[in-house]
Amino acid sequence: MAIQSPEGTRDLLPDEAKFWAHFKAVAADIFGRYGYLPIETPLFEQTELFVRGIGEATDVVSKEMFTAISGQNLQTLLDGGSIKAKSRLSLRPEGTAGVVRAVVQHDLVPQGAQPAKLMYAGPMFRAERPQKGRQRQFNQVGIECLGAEEPSVDAEGIIMLMRFYAAIGIPVESTRLLVNSMGCEACRPAYREAVRAFMAEHAGELCEECNRRAEINPLRAFDCKNPGCAAVMEGAPKITDHLCDDCRAHYEAVKAYLDGAGLAYVEDSKLVRGLDYYTRTVFEVQVTEGMGSQNAIGGGGRYDKLAQEVGGRPTPGFGWALGYERCVLALEAAGRAFPPAARCDFFVACVDDSVRAEAFSLVQAMRDAGFAGEMDHQHRSLKSQFKLADKLDAAQVAVLGPDELAEGKVKVRNMQTHEERLADLAATKALLARLSAEPQGFEPPSIDEVFGA
Ligand code: AMP
Repeated sequence: MAIQSPEGTRDLLPDEAKFWAHFKAVAADIFGRYGYLPIETPLFEQTELFVRGIGEATDVVSKEMFTAISGQNLQTLLDGGSIKAKSRLSLRPEGTAGVVRAVVQHDLVPQGAQPAKLMYAGPMFRAERPQKGRQRQFNQVGIECLGAEEPSVDAEGIIMLMRFYAAIGIPVESTRLLVNSMGCEACRPAYREAVRAFMAEHAGELCEECNRRAEINPLRAFDCKNPGCAAVMEGAPKITDHLCDDCRAHYEAVKAYLDGAGLAYVEDSKLVRGLDYYTRTVFEVQVTEGMGSQNAIGGGGRYDKLAQEVGGRPTPGFGWALGYERCVLALEAAGRAFPPAARCDFFVACVDDSVRAEAFSLVQAMRDAGFAGEMDHQHRSLKSQFKLADKLDAAQVAVLGPDELAEGKVKVRNMQTHEERLADLAATKALLARLSAEPQGFEPPSIDEVFGA
């Protein structure tokens, strides 16, 4: 059998690869209006970064990381030896830890500076059990804002994400925005203890995993998919009843900004998110229909302690990531398809082989002048060249034949109106040469003008 792509990965074929490029361009445009600039960090980092940043007890780090060992180090490990911590590498399971590492390493937020607003787009890797909407390599677009703890940062970040979904075609009415606050170092420990005590009282009703979680990280139990655990955790203490005054004021201010922007949201005190680094604001966007259990299309929150965790000075932060593939599923659920990738302004057809060289040079001149188009590369008959032009959705077909060529002409057919006319080849080529000397990015004339309509 022919070799298949690895489990949990997906090829983006041309229509979709072009849509992904469009998706990133819309993101750069919208988030650019809010001051976000692109950053590219490596696809792998020292494993230590994710252990310290995301948290050793999280599912992402404890169960789902793809660890990469380079050739000689792998042999050393297989031989029972040990390797340096900095040689232990993992493919990034998310983007925040790497961006925060880069901000600290390059001192992008010096004391007193304005916040660093950064955005990224690219693949993430998690060794999860693949299913619809859950892959081992998937694409995220994300933003991070470091250096400001004001609730306005959280609110504008959430607003621009919702604007993006709408711009890409996901109907706003099919989405649900969940928000919560996870408190801070001052109020969360007491809350965690309250949840732990509650779980101890209900130990017999909770699954083994949750009983283990009660010891290491009791808040994880809110994410348990086991219906019995979910029912028990419904009655658990609510973080919103345990927030300190500062966290409460921050949370109220975020909600007031969202209200002011007219964004609808649902407060969900059980929303704790899977990663350890969150403080205060957390949120998630779900699609309400047609997506099954993998219905989260994006989420994030505030992480005011993460920069310190990875060795930097205290730098508050806020960020989120959206899942590209989940957005595609949401678009499908809403009945929206990708626009076709191919663009074809013209097709040059040859009546016979004697004109092939001339056709080749006309096609090149058209492309140099900024038009997209094709000629036949398989010795097709004239009839089947027209069929191909149709399939490519060419707007115009230029037919080169020995008789027309002898008179310095080319026959041009408008594929929509089926009108035909003879264009002067020398004049057409002179115009194309002038156009190709224009700088990139100029507005080219219509193809009708090129053929002298
Ligand atoms: P997270 O970093 O887990 O908050 O993920 C942010 C977003 O990435 C989620 O809301 C999903 O849309 C997407 N996502 C996370 N994990 C996967 C996965 N394994 N496959 C596809 N998309 C994912």
